[in-house]
Amino acid sequence: MKGERCLIVGPCAAESREQVLETAEQLSDVRDRFSAFHFIFRAGVWKPRTRPDSFQGAGEAALGWLQEVKERFGFEVATEVATPEHVEAAIKAGIDYLWIGARTSANPIAVQAIAAAIADRCAVRPLHCKTANAVRPAPPAGLLIKNPVNADAALWLGNIERLERTGIPVLAVHRGCSHQPCWHMAHEVRLARPDIPMLLDPSHMSGDAAKVPELIKKIDELGLDGAMIEVHAHPEQALSDSEQQITPLAFSRWLLAKSQEPRVNSELNWLRAEIDELDDTLWQTIAARMDVSRRIGAWKKEHHMPPLQPDRYQTMVERISELANERGLSADFALRLYDLIHAESLNQQQ
Ligand code: PEP
Ligand code: MN
Repeated sequence: MKGERCLIVGPCAAESREQVLETAEQLSDVRDRFSAFHFIFRAGVWKPRTRPDSFQGAGEAALGWLQEVKERFGFEVATEVATPEHVEAAIKAGIDYLWIGARTSANPIAVQAIAAAIADRCAVRPLHCKTANAVRPAPPAGLLIKNPVNADAALWLGNIERLERTGIPVLAVHRGCSHQPCWHMAHEVRLARPDIPMLLDPSHMSGDAAKVPELIKKIDELGLDGAMIEVHAHPEQALSDSEQQITPLAFSRWLLAKSQEPRVNSELNWLRAEIDELDDTLWQTIAARMDVSRRIGAWKKEHHMPPLQPDRYQTMVERISELANERGLSADFALRLYDLIHAESLNQQQ
């Protein structure tokens, strides 16, 4: 896969044999038109869901559907593993790529157990060992590790190291946190491990099919190594992540429109992505602050209190100067900015 951009595409979950094969067939047509990419077909078999009554995946039966995808359409296939039992079943079924999802990635004990199960299943035995390699199933071609659900670059890096010990190539997948990209975390991992390919998962990063095309542009801007994208023949009927899946047609349109420019790995673009992320946080914080401010305004009205409270304002000015000092920012700049925010806040309380 080195030097070639990798596209891991397919539905969130394998729901039925028909759904898997229909999506795979449409995607095989797309693959045949775009030879510059390394295509892998994905589908989750065991789905980590928030609620117990949601669709939990079709389980082991779906491994057979993925085997059929391999045989009929010549795709390599990928699925998510969350326990050593999943590893055992997936390797036995000849799944080419195993991925560890964001929720499992947040639990180092689970990742360690998965890595141990993979190593145990796939390690090349020393010569004196009686177990013949020939009877062992082929090891997976690659292991994918998503970032943990919380923005923890150190844990993501630790998980990469845990998986590397299996001797199987490891790829990192940036899927963001809470339906948002987490560029600062991805940048940290990219800088620490430029040797590990990094893919983008715009589907889980946004949770919204309409946002996928814009996010995909980051692959080129940041010199990433490809993407994992949820593609479903009928997204509106999907049993999980229905809002974020795109059709094979939408996917092929994106591939067609995609610039053929060489990959950059511009440090400037990474830093700009970090700035954009911080601006998002800044504006979210300001909007949330105005919201609380309006609630304070309502309380004041009810208690016949004017919006401007000079004592409170004075305390806040002192607090802002201290906060600015602690962070190495100029108190003068902080107070000028704060006055703008405070004035708007009073406006909102009128
Ligand atoms: C998935 O890829 O279907 C999945 C469950 O993703 P994540 O672990 O990123 O939520
Ligand atoms: Mn999903």
